Amino acid sequence: MNALDILRQYFGHDAFRPGQREIIDALLAGRDALGVMPTGAGKSACYQVPALTLPGVTLVISPLISLMKDQVASLVQAGVPAAYLNSSLTPGQMNTALRRAAQGQYKIIYVAPERLSTPDMAILAGQTPISLLAVDEAHCVSQWGQDFRPSYLAVADFIGSLPVRPPVGAFTATATARVREDIVRLLGLRDPACVTTGFDRANLFFDVVEPKDKTAWVIDYVKRHAGQSGIIYCATRKAVEAVCQSLRARGFSATRYHAGLDDEERRANQDDFVYDRAPVMVATNAFGMGIDKSSVSYVLHYNMPKDLESYYQEAGRAGRDGERAECILLYSPADVQTAKFLIRGGEENEALTPEERDAVYRQDMRRLEAMTAYCRSDDCLRARILAYFGEPHEGHCGNCGRCVGDYATEDISESAQAVLKAVAQIERRYRSGLGLSVIAGALCGSREKRVLQLGLDETPFHGALRSLGRDKVRAVIEKLIADGLLVQTEGDYPVLRLSVEGRAARTDGRTITLRVRRAAKAPAGAVRAAAPSAHPDDEALLEYLRAVRLRLAQKERVPAYIVCNNAALADMALKRPRTPEEFLEVNGIGEFKAARYGAAFIAAIAEYEKSL
Ligand code: ADP
Ligand code: ZN
Repeated sequence: MNALDILRQYFGHDAFRPGQREIIDALLAGRDALGVMPTGAGKSACYQVPALTLPGVTLVISPLISLMKDQVASLVQAGVPAAYLNSSLTPGQMNTALRRAAQGQYKIIYVAPERLSTPDMAILAGQTPISLLAVDEAHCVSQWGQDFRPSYLAVADFIGSLPVRPPVGAFTATATARVREDIVRLLGLRDPACVTTGFDRANLFFDVVEPKDKTAWVIDYVKRHAGQSGIIYCATRKAVEAVCQSLRARGFSATRYHAGLDDEERRANQDDFVYDRAPVMVATNAFGMGIDKSSVSYVLHYNMPKDLESYYQEAGRAGRDGERAECILLYSPADVQTAKFLIRGGEENEALTPEERDAVYRQDMRRLEAMTAYCRSDDCLRARILAYFGEPHEGHCGNCGRCVGDYATEDISESAQAVLKAVAQIERRYRSGLGLSVIAGALCGSREKRVLQLGLDETPFHGALRSLGRDKVRAVIEKLIADGLLVQTEGDYPVLRLSVEGRAARTDGRTITLRVRRAAKAPAGAVRAAAPSAHPDDEALLEYLRAVRLRLAQKERVPAYIVCNNAALADMALKRPRTPEEFLEVNGIGEFKAARYGAAFIAAIAEYEKSL
């Protein structure tokens, strides 16, 4: 089977992403390869696809137990026999895994670098032909990278000890020239095919805001992004505690992570986050290394970090599934003081001479300046980040807060009244109430199925706000919810109700305002940099499918995003498959997953449609 067929059949993707094809072709031709690609670009497929094409087994060196566990769970879900060998296994489990490996039962085995020099590995390598060796997070071999791991230095020896040298693929998101040279030299790569796709994460939207009340802003944001998973980074433990507490007090499932908590609680909280029991994580920068949750839709920074390296790394934990995600930094001038304080605290490194300490201090201050300049920048934020990392950018990305415009306050009293009136009429006419999406549709004059089925096209408010467009109408409704004039009920099918306050607002002639982005500076029709993703009209169906996914995940004891990612779920809501064949058409659904979960999702969609 050729590489593209493998990508389709196992992973459910239609085409290769930039760089994948070149690396796969090199490895399949027996050549070494070095892939420098940003997080979320799809490095795993670069070795997983060849692994499934080649005879024998592929070994993947990976630095973190949690990453390995995640990758193996994903592969097993895709129908690929895979396993990991690391210190989290009991001796019994280890023996079983080694025995199965020797019998050739696995196509892909993840190994911790520490294990490479064990007798077990030597025996395994003697018994089983290793057709490919992949080194994940390859920058760990370099002292110049951020996460140097001495155990990576053993990789070259291990390769040298193999009876037949397989092609070696090395992968990293860290792209400085020095680190790259180290990888080639220290892993002993031979004339590798080097593929660099650049630093840019096109699917991430960047913004810096300066709210008066950060906590209120965060609460509002989390509310507007209910159902999504996000991380909120704070500079101090105290801030973590306070923000987490505020969110919980308002009923959000938030959890926290910082060095002041004991191991057990940290692990439990991390699991709650990964398994979506607590979709919002409030944390210090101690959180994140080794977290592979790909479905993080936003990363907020409650405080400005001390340099752009940290910022880009932390913000980059959003959107690893390639879906549009937001990275928003809440800036306040006081953050500069906190950062300076932290930098001074780092000065007391005893291992350094006074001169070295001074040099480090000055470098840290320069980095802080660049970070601060980013926050105060009037022009493209993405261009600024990329320039900092030495990657030229034409300077207008169209997908950051600066490119799409700034905010202004707009009087929306008139359209707000139309919404309130509509909800009042709906309350009289449809006793159980209706959801936000369909109300917005009706107000815009939509003739979509749901609107017609409910007879909304015959109501007086059908099309009343046609001129505003759907997004704007949604924004008005959301503002009314935020102001407490409308209430959104809890549960699987939330509906809108008029609050007491909302009733009062219908007659007291108050002014209702909305903070909106001022006219976009972007030229009309500027292309959205992010890959277009499915935007199903039917949010309720998406919610419903999300619940189905969570149920399936709980049954399988894996995180929800491993059953299928958000992109697949959105595509499902859009395509509404009715048959197994149609289900296979959903992006990100391979044959194995279709066989495993197709029936449950198809039934759920049918059930949903019947309930309309
Ligand atoms: P990385 O290791 O580079 O951070 P991953 O390998 O985890 O990235 O892939 C990120 C996401 O991209 C995954 O959700 C994966 O399913 C998706 N992906 C990978 N290759 C493709 C492709 N060719 N088409 C569509 N999606 C892809
Ligand atoms: Zn921009």
